[in-house]
Amino acid sequence: MLRTPRDVVGLISERFYADDGDILISSCDGMQFKLHRQNLHMHSDIFPGEEVHAGDEIVDLSEDSATLDLLFQYMYRQPQPDLRHVEFEQLAKLAEAAEKYRVFAAMEICKVFMRSSLSSGKDPVIILGYAARHGYQELCAEAAPLTLNVSARDALDHLGPSHFVSWSLYRDPWVQALLDAYHPPPSGGILHKGGSSECDLWKPFVLAVIDDMGRDLATVSLISSVLEKNYERLRDCRHCKMRAQTWRDQIQRRIAELPSFQL
Ligand SMILES: [Zn+2]
Repeated sequence: MLRTPRDVVGLISERFYADDGDILISSCDGMQFKLHRQNLHMHSDIFPGEEVHAGDEIVDLSEDSATLDLLFQYMYRQPQPDLRHVEFEQLAKLAEAAEKYRVFAAMEICKVFMRSSLSSGKDPVIILGYAARHGYQELCAEAAPLTLNVSARDALDHLGPSHFVSWSLYRDPWVQALLDAYHPPPSGGILHKGGSSECDLWKPFVLAVIDDMGRDLATVSLISSVLEKNYERLRDCRHCKMRAQTWRDQIQRRIAELPSFQL
C-alpha cells in the first residue's frame, strides 16, 4: 500500500533515516525509514520495485520496525547484526522477512541460526514451518522428529494447510509405531528352567516399560534407554533379557523404516 509523505505521522528510525534517502518505508507499527533505493535494489530481489517512484510515496510493509531495522542492516555497508543476541521470536521474523524480500545476505545466516535454535530447544514447529515454506528439506528432516508431540492445532497454525498435510502423513506412521511398540514379542520358544515360557519378572518389566513410553511419540526412538532403565527388573534372568533385546530390535527396525518428512 502506498501513501504520500503528507500522511507521515509516527516515529522515525534512528538508524535508517537518511536526508538524501529517496524512498520512505513504514513498518506495521508506524516507524518510518528513509532509505536509498539503490541499496534496496542491490541487496534484494524483490523491493523496492519499479512501481515505487522516488520521494513521493510511502511504502507500507507488513513487518514490524524491529524486524525491518535488522533486515536493512544487511542492505548497507556496515557490520551485520550479531544474531546470537537476537531472541528466537525476533530471529524467526527476520528469517521470514529475509526470505520474503530475497535478501540473500541475510537468508543464509538466518537459516544457520534457525537450525542452531533447534538444538537449544526453541519451538521446533516454528522452525519446521519456516523450513517447509522455503523448501529447506534438510532442516525439515531435522526439525520434524521434534514436532511429533505437537498438537494438530499448533501444527496447522504454524505450517499452514498444505504443509500440515505433509506433517500429518509424516506423523501417522509414528503413531502406529508407538501403538505397535506397546506389544512385546512372544517368548519365541525361549524356555525358562522347568519349561515355562515366561517367568514372574516379565510382566512387571513390560508394564514399567510401557508406562515409561507413555503417550510420548518421541520416546519410541529412545527405546534403548527406556529398556535399559528397567533392565534391573529382570534381575539375572537371561531368557527375559534376550526377549527384551528382541523387543528393542523390533522397535528400532520399525523406527529406521519410518519415512522422513517430505515437502
Ligand atoms: Zn524370565
